[in-house]
Amino acid sequence: MTKKVNLNDILMKVEKPARYLGNEINAYHKDTSNEDLIRFGFSFPDVYEVGMSHLGLQILYGVLNEREDILCERIFSPGIDMEEKMRENNIPMFGLESRESITNFDFLAFTLQYELSYTNILNILDLAKVEILAKDRKRNDPFILVGGPCAYNSEPLADFVDIVSLGEGEEVLLEVVDRYKMWKNTDKSREEFLYDLAKNVDGIYIPSLYEVEYNEDNTVKSVTPSKDDIPKKIQKRIIKNLDECFFPEKIVVPYINIVHNRIMLELFRGCTRGCRFCQAGMIYRPIRERSVDRLKDIAKKLVESTGHEEMSLASLSTSDYSNLGAITDHLIEEYSKKQRVALSLPSLRLDNFSLELAHKVQEVRKSGLTFAPEAGTQRLRDVINKGITEFDLENATRKAFGKGWNSVKLYFMIGLPTEKYDDLDGIKDLAYKVIDIYRDVHEGKLTRNFGVTVSTSTFVPKPFTPFQWHGQDTQDEIREKQIHLTKKLKNRNIKYNYHDSKTSLLEAVMARGDRRIGQVIYDAYKKGCKFDGWGEHFKFDLWVEAFEENNIDMAFYANRHREYDEVFPWDHIDVGVSKKFLERENELSKTETLTPDCRHKCNACGINTDLARGLC
Ligand code: SF4
Repeated sequence: MTKKVNLNDILMKVEKPARYLGNEINAYHKDTSNEDLIRFGFSFPDVYEVGMSHLGLQILYGVLNEREDILCERIFSPGIDMEEKMRENNIPMFGLESRESITNFDFLAFTLQYELSYTNILNILDLAKVEILAKDRKRNDPFILVGGPCAYNSEPLADFVDIVSLGEGEEVLLEVVDRYKMWKNTDKSREEFLYDLAKNVDGIYIPSLYEVEYNEDNTVKSVTPSKDDIPKKIQKRIIKNLDECFFPEKIVVPYINIVHNRIMLELFRGCTRGCRFCQAGMIYRPIRERSVDRLKDIAKKLVESTGHEEMSLASLSTSDYSNLGAITDHLIEEYSKKQRVALSLPSLRLDNFSLELAHKVQEVRKSGLTFAPEAGTQRLRDVINKGITEFDLENATRKAFGKGWNSVKLYFMIGLPTEKYDDLDGIKDLAYKVIDIYRDVHEGKLTRNFGVTVSTSTFVPKPFTPFQWHGQDTQDEIREKQIHLTKKLKNRNIKYNYHDSKTSLLEAVMARGDRRIGQVIYDAYKKGCKFDGWGEHFKFDLWVEAFEENNIDMAFYANRHREYDEVFPWDHIDVGVSKKFLERENELSKTETLTPDCRHKCNACGINTDLARGLC
């Protein structure tokens, strides 16, 4: 048994000590003196409040802990102050539940939700005293596993990770543990275990077993397996029937406020809308719904086991759930009215039905209304296949103001392929139109609490999307666009926010990066980079130094337009949606041609051919 770390002297000296307690309601605790217990660390590499808001973590934490032979513990990035104290007192990174060092765990798994968390992963390994480079780890060191959306191009992390899990993890993680248990009692090497996984577990990619060659122009020439009997292309895993798969009936309830402190009811996975910039819409296909009965059952158990006062319907596009009316009516009647459990509906579309629903929900709790037109003109919305019109926005805001809402948030992206300044002016026009509509509804008046918030983020071309071939706008171009919009949106009723484009640049480099980026990440980390997604901690200058020292040009990865015949670093990964389909979608974008929602007409994206045959 590993000794517990002693936090007594430091907990009261750091911000939010409750982040590190690990004894919240519904946390799992098991007998760690049992030598046969498989020790699994599951890490969301950001602070507790962010990680604990992630539904995937709660699901996989539950799946693993349901098994008596596994103890899965949570690991989050310690706050800057806590890390200082840990380093001062020589306290290694520990699992929240047992407070034991994770140095000798069997597995450390990281969920890759965003690229800017990569340095935090290295920091956690360092704090855990685990070798940062996979090649330096010994037989008894933990296996470092990654999963989540960024794992579909985990090449920038190839030097640091042992195992990549592609797709939905509920089943595959258990299979990995089972094979590990067989291996553990042999004298086979670490490499032999990884080879066994690559050969025998679908959805598992072992980067060290694939070789990358480059062309003289620095593009990738090929990624090939180093052994004959492992797959040339690794296919993601999916859960075929959501009603039959595990969903936690109890989730850990934090002591402190977190980003989303609520029950998250997952209605379905996948999305059929086909927005051309959206990675989630492609990688999570096909669409699979949970039945209303199963959702009612989960909701009941989670309300009873958590005492949460809020429940949200979580999915990529909530209003597309086929029985949304039935489930929301039930939840409002059963919980909002009788037990004051507020219901929230994120990701609503600009249609009448969604607005009616939002209104029903608002009867219980008032909150702001958010719409995401994404682009300012119809032309550009057609390019990105957003499928909503100005009329939809007008109609929805008019109804919303009529029903008592006073503020609206509008989300847009700038730097989208083919964008012109006319499209930016379209953003301005929409914001002013919303003001006019409000006046219209309120007899020419603007009330004091009325406001429109316009937020823009910078387009990041992502792998496995129709826009994966496009370059990102340069920093100068983005800055000019932001300045343009700042001037155009000067109005006391409009608040304009934009995201820092430097973080989007780094995101673009990592998202479409290859293995050569790994050394840059390592060097940036050694220079002091961590929490790169947090404005106050982001040290762009150090990143620039790290790129220069490695002679790597960020523009090559972020801003360069790529040709159709270029081999991508992620071409050996199969998400089900074919590259041909993505190419076709990219071509359609150039003629501003819409592709219909595939619930109405299959667009032959490829997912239904093998991986998900019969599901669409
Ligand atoms: S196979 Fe057809 S219906 Fe299924 S996700 Fe692809 S486009 Fe949509």
